[in-house]
Amino acid sequence: MSDDCIFCKIIEGDVPSYKVYEDENVYAFLDAEPVSKGHTLVIPKEHVDDIHGAADMDYMWEPLVKVSNAVKDAFGAEGVNIAQNNGEKAGQEVFHLHFHVTPIYEGDELDITYNRSSLESGDSVAEEISEQL
Ligand code: 5GP
Ligand code: ZN
Repeated sequence: MSDDCIFCKIIEGDVPSYKVYEDENVYAFLDAEPVSKGHTLVIPKEHVDDIHGAADMDYMWEPLVKVSNAVKDAFGAEGVNIAQNNGEKAGQEVFHLHFHVTPIYEGDELDITYNRSSLESGDSVAEEISEQL
């Protein structure tokens, strides 16, 4: 629990939310500014700022998959995007780990922009990352 965290307040029931799922470790609720109908946030009850603090949170996976299935089926979505931002530069606004589960429906335009390039120096890039593990 972090005193100044809006998502901790939602878990505690001090700030209202539209609950979709809850278990001992995980809470899921509707995003207040949905990208599409059914946009749901899945969060751990334990406060960590972002994915970098979540190495021990294996229990996130099953609820995340269950909620994704439910979000897809509830209104007949064609697909589901899972988004997860870490750090201000990466678009994170609420610093309590959360997974966005966003359904996409027939006729929707996927609005995700990445500037792609061709992979170069794959050997050394992969090695640099591996060395950090
Ligand atoms: P981020 O940009 O950090 O990945 O996403 C934060 C998300 O939290 C946003 O989609 C925003 O709409 C949602 N959000 C922020 N404050 C509240 C709130 O008080 N209630 C709910 N339900 N969603 C919130
Ligand atoms: Zn929190």
